[in-house]
Amino acid sequence: ESGAAVTAEMVDDVARKHFPPCMLNLYDRLKRDHHLKHFGRLQLGLFLKGIGLPLDEAIVFWRRMYGATMSDDKFNKEYKYNIRHSYGQEGRRANYSPKSCQQILTANQPGTQDSHGCPFRHFSPENLQSFLVDKYRIDRSGPEMRDIMDSVKASHYHVACTRLFEVTHGVKKGEGLGNAESVSHPNKYTDRSRELEKE
Ligand code: SF4
Repeated sequence: ESGAAVTAEMVDDVARKHFPPCMLNLYDRLKRDHHLKHFGRLQLGLFLKGIGLPLDEAIVFWRRMYGATMSDDKFNKEYKYNIRHSYGQEGRRANYSPKSCQQILTANQPGTQDSHGCPFRHFSPENLQSFLVDKYRIDRSGPEMRDIMDSVKASHYHVACTRLFEVTHGVKKGEGLGNAESVSHPNKYTDRSRELEKE
């Protein structure tokens, strides 16, 4: 289970410290554009539910993110329902689970205008490297970057993500999220990152 509940106010801080690339990319795009396309909203929205953002805080969060680009009327009519729906409060009241790496890597391949997906798989090598330098302070010409890019080249995306986790959390190579577990779910990445901060 994830750590303490997360409020709309806290998302930015948790994102900076604990989000894996797939979610930090979506979050930063949302912050910049005040907009995300359907699959991006879904991928980020369910993830945020998984880290412990309750429904009422999710509504506050998304309303703020859309900001002045959307009227209250449009938000209430079109977007609020979808947020409530993803929390199982509308329609079939299904309890939708946050997406796993496997689902993100293989389903609904992103087009050029999309920001969902997994940066290790869906970014060009150049964009991925710049992203890792900018957002995770990885040295562009260091051995860690080489490890990560070698895994990407071999299509071992979860290995690349696990290496990123190790490097950014001061964890020894091969230890992964603990007991050599590799990243298989974005929520695990974040939950473990938040745990390590408390230890
Ligand atoms: Fe996200 Fe998984 Fe890709 Fe890491 S490997 S960026 S957690 S989808």
